[in-house]
Amino acid sequence: MIRKDIIELFRVLPGTRIRLSDYDTGWAQTRELKELGKDVVKERARVILEKNLEDLAEAQERLWADDRYAVLVVLQAMDAAGKDGTIKHVMSGVNPQGCQVFSFKKPSAEELDHNFLWRYMKSLPERGRIGIFNRSFYEDVLVVKVHPELLTPQKLPPGKRGKAFWEARYEDINAFERHLVRNGTIVLKFFLNVSKKEQKRRFLERLENPQKHWKFSASDLAERAFWDQYMETYEDALSATSTDWAPWYIVPADHKWVTRAVVADILTTTICWLDLRYPEVTEAQRQALEHARQQLTHE
Ligand code: AMP
Ligand code: MG
Repeated sequence: MIRKDIIELFRVLPGTRIRLSDYDTGWAQTRELKELGKDVVKERARVILEKNLEDLAEAQERLWADDRYAVLVVLQAMDAAGKDGTIKHVMSGVNPQGCQVFSFKKPSAEELDHNFLWRYMKSLPERGRIGIFNRSFYEDVLVVKVHPELLTPQKLPPGKRGKAFWEARYEDINAFERHLVRNGTIVLKFFLNVSKKEQKRRFLERLENPQKHWKFSASDLAERAFWDQYMETYEDALSATSTDWAPWYIVPADHKWVTRAVVADILTTTICWLDLRYPEVTEAQRQALEHARQQLTHE
């Protein structure tokens, strides 16, 4: 499968009404893959990931040298879908100076005193860097929509909190992302699509393995009880905010090797498609370099 196919396979076309039950969370995304069988696909995914990690390291260096574009990677998912592991593995070969990760939790009092995009704006990557948002402004149309009481501390002007309210937020997000893209930030958004069954398996693993206990919190189970509401809310958000300028990718997340290979591939391909150049040395600079070389040689 060539790179363009992978991007097309997982990209949400703008204007599509998403039904997550139509999306496979496993490894057999196409008939071709199914026929190959799990072991072959897994081996291919391993090769793709390895190649991508090499290419990504190089692409990121060019991104840095070119200094015109930034890349913002947004990761959203249900608990235990593998956001942290994906970040750890996909970014493992990248120069730490060229990337940054921000994880967003419940907003602080100071953050609640500002507009909902404020804390995310402050954390955007500068030109030349890859910025990762582990959760993002999408929480403000996901967890907050599932639990509307979270709007109370946001102290918004009075008004109904119905359909129009959430549509206005999608509109704000689309406009914000368009602003970023127009100013040279590439926006890539990944929804790691884990099944309810696999989430249960991973939670149990965390509860049964003492080394993984720290990963489990009581609120994980409480949120799992809202699974269906979350799926509906994700469907609304993904449908409303997959745009030409900032598309969503729905990434199968029941197998970590699938998630990592797909995310690495889309990220690397997107950066490689940019017209990135190392700064050109002018004639005057070249002469100055030659002068420095001479001086150093005859020291
Ligand atoms: P974790 O990523 O497991 O550390 O959990 C972070 C928690 O913060 C999750 O339960 C999120 O739903 C919650 N969270 C993140 N952003 C927001 C937000 N804007 N408003 C309310 N809760 C949030
Ligand atoms: Mg958690």
